[in-house]
Amino acid sequence: MTARVLIVDDVPANLKLLDAKLTAEYFDVFKASSGPEALDAAREQQPDIILLDVMMPGMDGFEVCRRLKAMPETEHIPVVMVTALDQPKDRVQGLEAGADDFLTKPLNDLALFARVKSLVRLKMVTDELRMREATGQRIGALTVGGDNFLMKEPGRILVIDDRPTSLKRITETLSSEHTLTVAESQDELFELATQGNFDLLIVSLTLQEYDGLRLCSQLRSLEATRQTPILAIVEDGDTSRLVRALDMGVNDYLVRPMERNELVARARSQLRRKRYQDYLRDKFQQGLELAITDGLTGLYNRRYMEGHLSTLVADGVKTGKSVALLIFDIDYFKPVNDTYGHAAGDAVLKQFATRIAQNVRGIDLTCRLGGEEFVVVMPDTDLAYAMMVAERLRLRVASEPFVLNAETGQTLEITVSIGIAMTEGSHDTASKLLERADQGLYRAKRDGRNRVAAEAA
Ligand code: GH3
Ligand code: MG
Ligand code: MG
Repeated sequence: MTARVLIVDDVPANLKLLDAKLTAEYFDVFKASSGPEALDAAREQQPDIILLDVMMPGMDGFEVCRRLKAMPETEHIPVVMVTALDQPKDRVQGLEAGADDFLTKPLNDLALFARVKSLVRLKMVTDELRMREATGQRIGALTVGGDNFLMKEPGRILVIDDRPTSLKRITETLSSEHTLTVAESQDELFELATQGNFDLLIVSLTLQEYDGLRLCSQLRSLEATRQTPILAIVEDGDTSRLVRALDMGVNDYLVRPMERNELVARARSQLRRKRYQDYLRDKFQQGLELAITDGLTGLYNRRYMEGHLSTLVADGVKTGKSVALLIFDIDYFKPVNDTYGHAAGDAVLKQFATRIAQNVRGIDLTCRLGGEEFVVVMPDTDLAYAMMVAERLRLRVASEPFVLNAETGQTLEITVSIGIAMTEGSHDTASKLLERADQGLYRAKRDGRNRVAAEAA
């Protein structure tokens, strides 16, 4: 994963050092040396994350952060405050200004990279939802709503921590604002987590009887808790455990001994983010389903795909990230209808849709263009990866016959031809991209079908 990182510091030597470290890890680095410069750069460059020095002459980091979080164009960009101060008070002030994390100088490289990657990964989910919402608004299927509902209700929080003093601190601190449930054992944790609809999970990584990291990884893979934020509790200095926790998708962490206000602030910011995502997801579900799905397969329809693709291509032009488009056309499909009937043809189309949709990533968008033509849109993807996925999907279709009739069990072998195109340059559009993918498809057909071809370079 690469990410575009904006670093902000008034001391040139600090900028240079951080730039070198991040560049060596293959991040794309942008620099700003004052608050106002940082605000401009954030707006124009749309970085994936901002590392922000606190002490700067003129506008300090807290103020920059508050302003970033108040502008619609930058509010969704994660901010990590970087400072020489290490007073709980400053950390809390940073979190209250809307920062996503607070790291102290000198920076521990491993912790820094892990944190940057984890925040960027979390941002991808929100970005995708935000773009889906933007698309929905453009095609008139959604209504714009206010977001002051975000913190109205108390959060439902599930905790596992076997240290009595620490547990007491958590429950006492958070229960005035939220509803807390404590799990006494691993089994109870999973039972509660799958039944209750929790907004936040707090997990100690240093439990006596269980492996806290394993608990987090299991929570990440359970359907009921996949999207639920996890706040981990780690010992001071236990960087290796922290890095692994962040890598497996833990959203945020607290270091023992926990500071009350910091606990409150981190819990609040996770809840706010969770509710924002829930809200986007719900709104998306409600308004859109009918207007944007294809009746036969349940996939997105052409209209939605074109709208969403325009959003993605425009975003790709701005950020320099490439979007891959795969276009599918089932081979010799007309004879299937002619020989076995239209119902058999429909059965093939449905199974085809399922095979494709189940074999792409969550952020990829699968649509039925019409007839026996389908599209997969893959954000932030390069050609090599797109080719690999297309080839896998081609095989997934060709390797197992399709059921024509569930009662008789009659089956038929089906193949598909796939065209690929990548976004390019600063003037690309959705329709040009589709056209180029179509050229690839045409070549795949002409060269004998049951194959993948990228647009001619
Ligand atoms: P090629 O390998 O060149 O792609 O040949 P083909 O036969 O697949 O292509 P053609 O475009 O000639 O035929 C597409 C057929 O798809 C025509 C139509 O009968 C069928 N079709 C389109 N929509 C539906 C549908 O909703 N249900 C069914 N059963 N068939 C459909
Ligand atoms: Mg066709
Ligand atoms: Mg066809």
